[in-house]
Amino acid sequence: MDALSARINSLPVSATLAMAAKARELKNEGIDVIGLSLGEPDFNTPEFIKDAAIQAVNDNYNSYSPVDGYVELKQAICTKFKRDNGIEYGLDQIVVSTGAKQSIANVCMVLLDPGDEVLLPAPYWVSYSAIATLAEATSTIIPSSIDTDFKITPEQLEAAISHKTKLIMFNSPNNPSGIIYTEAEYRALGKVLEKYPDIYILSDEIYEHINYGTKHFSIAAIPELYDRTITVNGVAKAFAMTGWRIGYIGAPAWIAKACNKMQGQITSGANCIAQRATITALEAPVSKIQYMIDEFQIRRELIIKLLSGIPGIRLNQPAGAFYVFPDVSHYFGKTLRGKTIKDASDFALYLLEEAHVATVTGDAFGNGDCIRISYAASQDNIKEAIGRIAKALA
Ligand code: GLU
Repeated sequence: MDALSARINSLPVSATLAMAAKARELKNEGIDVIGLSLGEPDFNTPEFIKDAAIQAVNDNYNSYSPVDGYVELKQAICTKFKRDNGIEYGLDQIVVSTGAKQSIANVCMVLLDPGDEVLLPAPYWVSYSAIATLAEATSTIIPSSIDTDFKITPEQLEAAISHKTKLIMFNSPNNPSGIIYTEAEYRALGKVLEKYPDIYILSDEIYEHINYGTKHFSIAAIPELYDRTITVNGVAKAFAMTGWRIGYIGAPAWIAKACNKMQGQITSGANCIAQRATITALEAPVSKIQYMIDEFQIRRELIIKLLSGIPGIRLNQPAGAFYVFPDVSHYFGKTLRGKTIKDASDFALYLLEEAHVATVTGDAFGNGDCIRISYAASQDNIKEAIGRIAKALA
């Protein structure tokens, strides 16, 4: 529509959500589509968290909460940051938002001006570049490939920095590649960033607990970077609470204050029942959700084994999150069942049409050689889906 703003017209559709919607559409038409496009645990929210929500309803938590979140929740977040990440935050450094996505959007809106540059180590999560665009900033992608285990080097980081660079967005464990930056790797990248005091660091740690053995490290734990790092987290992935929409940041107080002001004009704060339930989730020991992590790990082994049997698919070993990000460039230029595969988008479309398996093109994550497959699905669905993919590619 001509009447729509340039802002919305220039905004790309979220590729993850678009693929999920397409799969849903085909399912409604009676086609047996297996959806491996969305990063969403297929578990129910644990009973002890649901009970806390029910209790909150019965306790009449129905009024607006403080815009930046209930004090008890912010306290639980401070305790979590100290317990899991070794980072000290005060209450004035915490803002609770409607999902980690809004936390990221708040940070971009309050830090970025038109013309500022945001560095995105690739592969990066789909919405980072779109949110930067909304804030009228430009994105500079730092490429990686399966040959470097999808990690960037300090040299690459330094080469990508310009006088316009204002923000860098890290995501570890990474969506879509599953890689985890180790403490040593983050310290090496941090050494570069120490030289550029005007660059802010957003560290998206939403997959922190979906980790198969690499020690999680928060970049804000580096004292030299603490004052300009925003740590983003939430309960969606680890606690199977995607629809509850609770994310949060720990940040320098002046950034937290600005985010509070921003969401005060946009949402008035996150849902009050979900906030109360999140207090219970964060206060629980991680051992209470270990059964989900264990199951994701079994699925990881399963999907790697099955995909490794398909010629032309190259895989890394994801250390966390619940995605594989295979390099499928071997198929580019080939014609399968009369369809020419030019790129990763064609490949993902081919899998949807011929195998009825929904995945997401790697282009959306800044890597056009790969596709993303979520294994937050049952073992039966994974077996069936990869079986169908193997057949469609044979
Ligand atoms: N973060 C998930 C994903 O990457 C959920 C969908 C979204 O918000 O983009 O699939």
